[in-house]
Amino acid sequence: MDETTNIAVRCRGVTKTYGKGAASVPALRGIDLDIRQGELLMIVGPSGCGKTTLISIIAAILDQDAGRCEVLGRDVSGLGRQEKIRFRGALIGFVFQVFNLLPSLTALENVAVPLVLNGVLRREAEKQALGTLASVGLSTRAEAYPSELSGGQQQRVAIARALAHNPRLVVCDEPTSNLDHETGQHMMTILRDVARSPRRAL
Ligand code: ADP
Ligand code: MG
Repeated sequence: MDETTNIAVRCRGVTKTYGKGAASVPALRGIDLDIRQGELLMIVGPSGCGKTTLISIIAAILDQDAGRCEVLGRDVSGLGRQEKIRFRGALIGFVFQVFNLLPSLTALENVAVPLVLNGVLRREAEKQALGTLASVGLSTRAEAYPSELSGGQQQRVAIARALAHNPRLVVCDEPTSNLDHETGQHMMTILRDVARSPRRAL
């Protein structure tokens, strides 16, 4: 972490092209970006402009072809596979555009997964998960399976899952796209509060 400038994410010249030769698709061409701690930053642009690609690189899910991306003081593309998994597990919460909820687990169990993966005992993990579900207005649906929830409710479970282990950096891919206007506003308020909690960026 760059304590002096308070920077959580620093991208310089980040470039990514999918595929090779005539079929290649340039997704990012030299992105420079700084995100401060405590900042709620939204990346807006038309479909296909590279938003998912950029945040996947920031979240250590995808490697760039060129340029540098420092996240919480670490050069993420320089990390090995296991280090990336540990880095994501400990410090990052990711909300996928397709929610990736596990269909055979209840809402509560889905939210508890990242906690259990970080070594929290199951009973304690479920207690914390219930608190996080309550913060997104879903405590009464904790025992429901994803197939029993509306799209918006599934999205809120996915957001709760990303927040449950109290990550330093929360990365959301279109977190309000399946929500009605009012629920979307509520979600933005939750995310804003999350970003303001100490040493956090979003
Ligand atoms: P956004 O999230 O802004 O809609 P993406 O980052 O998903 O944009 O995509 C940027 C560009 O890269 C698009 O032209 C898309 O078709 C292309 N793209 C994304 N993922 C892949 C992939 N796995 N293979 C090939 N092309 C891809
Ligand atoms: Mg996208």
